[in-house]
Amino acid sequence: MRAVTFQAPGEVRVEERPEPRLTSPEEAIVRVETSGICGSDLHIYHGRVKMERGFTLGHEFVGTVVEAGSAVSEVAVGDRVLGCFCTACGRCFFCRHGDYHKCDHGRVFGHGKTLGDLQGAQAELVLVPHANLTLRRVPAGMPDEVALFAGDVMGTGYHAIVDANLVPGETVCVIGLGPVGLCAVQAAKVCGAAHVFAVDRVPERLALAERFGARAIDLEKEDPREPVRAATGGRGADVVVEAVGHPEALDLAIRLARKAGRVSGIGVYAERVQVHMGLVWIKALSLRTGFANVVGHLDRVIALLESGRLDPRPLVTHHLSLNEAPEGYAIYDRREALKVVLKP
Ligand SMILES: [Zn+2]
Ligand SMILES: [Zn+2]
Repeated sequence: MRAVTFQAPGEVRVEERPEPRLTSPEEAIVRVETSGICGSDLHIYHGRVKMERGFTLGHEFVGTVVEAGSAVSEVAVGDRVLGCFCTACGRCFFCRHGDYHKCDHGRVFGHGKTLGDLQGAQAELVLVPHANLTLRRVPAGMPDEVALFAGDVMGTGYHAIVDANLVPGETVCVIGLGPVGLCAVQAAKVCGAAHVFAVDRVPERLALAERFGARAIDLEKEDPREPVRAATGGRGADVVVEAVGHPEALDLAIRLARKAGRVSGIGVYAERVQVHMGLVWIKALSLRTGFANVVGHLDRVIALLESGRLDPRPLVTHHLSLNEAPEGYAIYDRREALKVVLKP
């Protein structure tokens, strides 16, 4: 089968790889009909997140179950399914407490040996461990391009908001308007934010955030602290989502949050960074971090996608074939794309 593999920083390749085989009764094999290129794939592409040469990329997928182990009961061969970016066993301490994203046996698709040694979904076939929790049936009539977002990008935007315990009437500021940030804007609106500020430097992304009902702030032209303070009686935002994964963005988030506010650090970190802990402490901020509990949110996110209250379709900017994936990575790297969708 064909698969998109990591070769070296800045280089991915479409290669022939062996087809996956079931190794446990809880696994399934999915024929991938749609996959996505994600911001976290770019971290690998840049060499910031290390991965072995020749490893298959990709963790967002929609497809059809072609094989299922004897313990797979929630989906069956022939079902159209969507996948989560990570797997969960459902039995360990963390799964029993609902923290599926921290499952002791959790593995992330397409992130190499350090995150569970699980080959990615930018391929014709993908092996899915713990298929009962990792896969869900796609509701009838939901397009692939919508379903693709449930198990990663929209689930993550949703997580950034609900994990910060947003309550209706609060003010949210989202820093970084990549796909996750834009999904967080939508989730903030759906969860009842009175005001949503959206901060970035890319005009197209700011325009999209505005279309989703946010007040866009172009960092090139405006200091976000002024409008956020003006809207909150000088206090700052109740919730700030840091969807960049850069110390400057984190620092801005800490400054934009009100006293006793919440900072939701959903951007990816793989290295040591400096945080002004004195400011965090004196403001009594709560800092939430880590990748999203998409398995835990999945049913609600699918329901919101199905009802149309969350709608990621404006984020899909490019449709390419699997063979064109190297070009897709290059386009995304130049920030000319938001979501690149691949079809075998
Ligand atoms: Zn992703
Ligand atoms: Zn578990």
